[in-house]
Amino acid sequence: MERTIIKDALKRTDFGEKINVKGWVRTRRGNKNVSFIALNDGSTIHNIQVVVDFNNFSEEELKTITTGAAISVSGVLAESVGQGQNVEIQATEIEIYGTADPEKYPLQKKGHTLEYLREIAHLRPRTNTFGAVFRIRHNMAMAIHTFFHERGFFYFHTPIITGSDCEGAGQMFQVTTQNLCNLKTDENGAIDFSHDFFGAPTALTVSGQLEGELGAMALGAIYTFGPTFRAENSNTPRHLAEFWMIEPEVAFIEIAENMQLAQDFVQFCVNWALENCKDDIDFLAKMYDNELIERLKFVVENDFVRLTYTEGIEILKNAIAKGKKFEFPVDWGADLQSEHERYLVEEHFKKPVILTDYPKEIKSFYMKQNDDGKTVRAMDVLFPKIGEIIGGSQREEDLEKLTRRAKEMNIPEKDIWWYLDTRRFGTAPHAGFGLGFERLMLFVTGMQNIRDVIPFPRTPKNAEF
Ligand code: ATP
Ligand code: MN
Repeated sequence: MERTIIKDALKRTDFGEKINVKGWVRTRRGNKNVSFIALNDGSTIHNIQVVVDFNNFSEEELKTITTGAAISVSGVLAESVGQGQNVEIQATEIEIYGTADPEKYPLQKKGHTLEYLREIAHLRPRTNTFGAVFRIRHNMAMAIHTFFHERGFFYFHTPIITGSDCEGAGQMFQVTTQNLCNLKTDENGAIDFSHDFFGAPTALTVSGQLEGELGAMALGAIYTFGPTFRAENSNTPRHLAEFWMIEPEVAFIEIAENMQLAQDFVQFCVNWALENCKDDIDFLAKMYDNELIERLKFVVENDFVRLTYTEGIEILKNAIAKGKKFEFPVDWGADLQSEHERYLVEEHFKKPVILTDYPKEIKSFYMKQNDDGKTVRAMDVLFPKIGEIIGGSQREEDLEKLTRRAKEMNIPEKDIWWYLDTRRFGTAPHAGFGLGFERLMLFVTGMQNIRDVIPFPRTPKNAEF
């Protein structure tokens, strides 16, 4: 008999028909006459109830059907009289694919802490929580591709191994095939990369933006969506060493349109979650965060506040004057800390905020310089609970200014000659931004720790599984 996915089985109303489902046992309970198996196959947060009548099965046969076992059940679809479900299966045949010794299987039915589940990341997708998170993760990826595809953007693949380190000096993972115990060096003792695989130092990318700009300056509008690596040794609940980033880049737009694109994009994704992941979001809201759905709707329905960094600093200084305490000082010229960002979003405006025009010293060389000589056309999108979710800018299209800024920031021209070529040949205004996929996931799921929204998190001292 053909297998029915449990998500579909739960919607059926053709009671009396034969049906087959396969899945993993969540629980089994019962009495002397009958046993109830809650079966889940990952297609939905909901289990299907399998009713096993001891007139048809011996208790002996059922003994190994314990939490975690994989089974195939054939039977008759029936209307359920029990609470919480409309459909059940009266089993006529059960095949056991794999047992799960109750003495050893780590996922028993009682609730485990998220910290413990991180230690068994190979099994945690089988829990309700992580099933919900990873189904939402898939849906968010679909939302992202849909959004850009519908707007005529092209999915552009930028390299994962890169030879340019102008973005992330110091926080890159090196890529080499050299024997680290026996490195070839030149007469000065420096490592001789001519023997290495690429004949030059290489590393894992910290951003696809520079190459993304090359795509935008040919295809008009592109986006990247790929793995990104940062060896930042910061053990925060918002940073991973390996994460996924989405980076749209668009020719012929300036910062105002870039801000609107960012707002439309995030609102589209959050709305997609509300429309397509209702059961999973309801579950997470119930278990972890009862304001989740309200917060998601709020972001979809409200414009994001736009203000400059300088105005933001004024607001923060006023708050301090009125008695607000921050751990870190607030000074024009310094980067905002997460606590400052969250104050603006959660307490002052109570809305997502797009901050623009940051001091050039704390931003990258490629951002468009303002006429004041002090600020650049950067934009960070700040979200409740998360802080920075997007970082972007209008790019400097003027070859002269860009080259000068690169020099000031000690970026050798020989490393970025190909990037500068876009300004040499047919340069044009353009802008883009980067959204951290897991930051979006944090927001949409209401989870508190970024380790809990990616299947296999990589963080300092942790690359297991
Ligand atoms: P932060 O100040 O939060 O470290 P950033 O300024 O380093 O962020 P960008 O370089 O602008 O971030 O990267 C673009 C986006 O990528 C950020 O807005 C964020 O959503 C995401 N991001 C950056 N670093 C990480 C990380 N280590 N783990 C997960 N997401 C990240
Ligand atoms: Mn960072």
